[in-house]
Amino acid sequence: MSRELDSPFIPEEFLAIGQDPQSLTARSAERFGVSVETFINWRWQMKHQIAEKQQLHDVLDLKDQEDLGFEQLKDLFVTGITPYYAGLMAPRLEKAEDCPVRLQAMPRTEERFDSVGVADPLDEVPHSPVKEVVHVYPDRVAFCVAQLCPVYCRYCFRKRRDDEVGLHFNRQIVDRGIDYIASNPAIRDVLITGGDPFIASDAALDNLLSRIRAIPHVDIIRFGTRTPVTLPYRVTAKLGKILAKYHPVWLNTHFNCPEELTPEAQQAIRNLVDAGVPVGNQAVLLRGVNDSEDRMLTLCRQLLKSRVRPYYVFHPHAVEGTEHLRVDLRRGMKIMKSLRGNITGFGIPTYALDTPSGKIPIQHNYMLKEDGEDLIVETIRGEIWRERSVLTEL
Ligand code: SF4
Repeated sequence: MSRELDSPFIPEEFLAIGQDPQSLTARSAERFGVSVETFINWRWQMKHQIAEKQQLHDVLDLKDQEDLGFEQLKDLFVTGITPYYAGLMAPRLEKAEDCPVRLQAMPRTEERFDSVGVADPLDEVPHSPVKEVVHVYPDRVAFCVAQLCPVYCRYCFRKRRDDEVGLHFNRQIVDRGIDYIASNPAIRDVLITGGDPFIASDAALDNLLSRIRAIPHVDIIRFGTRTPVTLPYRVTAKLGKILAKYHPVWLNTHFNCPEELTPEAQQAIRNLVDAGVPVGNQAVLLRGVNDSEDRMLTLCRQLLKSRVRPYYVFHPHAVEGTEHLRVDLRRGMKIMKSLRGNITGFGIPTYALDTPSGKIPIQHNYMLKEDGEDLIVETIRGEIWRERSVLTEL
């Protein structure tokens, strides 16, 4: 066995996928000129995160907007793309325009023109009683322990974090955050997020979980991570077993389009679900990525097949540099309405506007009017229905 195979970062379940020469893993490893064993090492992926256009020269053609984007956007938002995620991109220019994966991760010149976007659309900074603990709802906090991500999504509402160098799993921040949670008995639910919290060693995650689980009033621990999408090799069966020690542990991930649900991503999901971790999905509605009835329905169906519950679709935040990706809210409502009747109820995510005061569900109003004790409603087929005597107070 080679030294690479001896490494603790070579998960067998992903090695098995990569042994098929037609798999995305095998083809991408070849494009990047490394062995499959190296390619599925998540630390190698992070070390070779693509930040400069020269790193892509042998792998894919760059559009003009992307080529210039690499140069012009350094000050606005860092670029970082795992080789795995780059492997999902359409490599040649003919298909690049319509590639939903490129749109999410490649810097583009359009980002320089945004008349509305702001740095902190959710006012998270004023809602943080201690650094990196966001406390909006009384019963829960978002604990932002991580600053690194495998891919820096161009529409991220935490873009402002780029100057927080050195704060990744920072001991002082973690200690203060845990003290804050421990001293507030109203907090029953801790969302560990970032950045991406899975960009830490198994030992660091194990330690963090054990400290939070030791707080008696914390009922549930949740993770927000995009690693199943952007770096599935990180989500090993071994990590699943670590999470399972601290149940109830829940997890939300972030698939935006069907192309992201690769066999590798599905393996990552299996590693979580088989360990008893319920997995939900929080997508963001994005122009050119998922803003059509067909693509949203396909995404939700594929998620269910992969044992992921579609949980939220967020209307895109007005984050600086994202005007070209934003979608009209009425269009969003139409897309979401089209799901009803075409997929089982629990496959329909809540369309939500995320505001500094919390999430607001946005949906088509099926209630048309009250008529005495009757309610007049619109059916999902657009017919009128009278539901008799439902407005009677007993
Ligand atoms: S993975 Fe999440 S936190 Fe990281 S850049 Fe993407 S949206 Fe932002």
